[in-house]
Amino acid sequence: MNIFEEVKSSVSARAVIENYGLKVGRNGMACCPFHNDKHPSMKVDDTHYHCFGCGAHGDAIGYVAQMYSISQYEAACKIVDDFHLLIDTNHEFSEDEKKSFEKVQEQKAFVAKVQKKFKNWINETIDELKECENLIEEARETFIGKEPGAVFISNGFAYMLRYESVVGYWLDVLCMGSEEDKRQLFLVDGKEVKRIAANIKRAGNEILGRTRQCAG
Ligand SMILES: [Zn+2]
Repeated sequence: MNIFEEVKSSVSARAVIENYGLKVGRNGMACCPFHNDKHPSMKVDDTHYHCFGCGAHGDAIGYVAQMYSISQYEAACKIVDDFHLLIDTNHEFSEDEKKSFEKVQEQKAFVAKVQKKFKNWINETIDELKECENLIEEARETFIGKEPGAVFISNGFAYMLRYESVVGYWLDVLCMGSEEDKRQLFLVDGKEVKRIAANIKRAGNEILGRTRQCAG
């Protein structure tokens, strides 16, 4: 028997689930902790839990893994610890077990890498867009007091004005939007955001550089 089978044969799913704080009624029904459940829609028996509302489903180990966002193995060890079960958690893994464990680790590492890339992209892009907003503001100041036509002569400034509201909208999404909105922006318009930000920065630096030279 491996650790998972040993844990499951030592303690019932219901005992485990109740131990981690879920109130299970006499009929085996409980309010599901995995979704906003007002009326009990999770059925708990000796071997499994199943939520008719959100579909959460599994055995004692799966419940603890889902509850604490840990791996199945960590969940099994946690149950061994918390229930003081006499199960050796340092068992020698077979080659097959090791391989499947490594595969899970690889997948986790890949997901973590993508998430990190996404987070970095958000932070970088917020900085870039803020810089764009500042440049637009500064550029606008350089046109104050000049003849109105000057604004239209500058293609760069016209470009900045054209995209000013878009930049503001993207900043709103990245600072206050839902994760889904951010992901959409990253996946669908990510390149466009970078391209426009780069153009605004080039235009802004040109306008500001030029005025500085004139002033000097
Ligand atoms: Zn549920």
